[in-house]
Amino acid sequence: MADPYKYDHYKTVPDPTEKINKKKKKPRLMAVVDEDNCTGCQVCVPFCPVDCIETVPNEKYNIPIPPVQIRFDECIGCQICAKVCTKLTWDAIHMLPTEEFESLYNITVAE
Ligand code: SF4
Ligand code: SF4
Repeated sequence: MADPYKYDHYKTVPDPTEKINKKKKKPRLMAVVDEDNCTGCQVCVPFCPVDCIETVPNEKYNIPIPPVQIRFDECIGCQICAKVCTKLTWDAIHMLPTEEFESLYNITVAE
């Protein structure tokens, strides 16, 4: 009989991406990394279907393990990174509606 107390905590986390895709239209949501909260573990990186998560350049934080950042013009807003970070590691990625993201950071996201 299955153990009712044995949970599969990974079941809602998708597999790391195998094929890198490209953005086709402006997304509804944008992923934003809370850099002060990100451990720099890079667990989220191989899960991004468009491979747009990268390490923050060394010039910004002169520390051994810098946080990651999102190349916003490439992000498709799929939320996978946020799910992976929350489920497997920490809780450092938040999804913002694209309009809110644009007005908050005074940025226009590419179509
Ligand atoms: S999984 Fe979370 S804590 Fe780890 S690098 Fe990605 S955003 Fe940062
Ligand atoms: S939401 Fe996260 S995983 Fe999805 S495309 Fe954007 S950065 Fe990549």
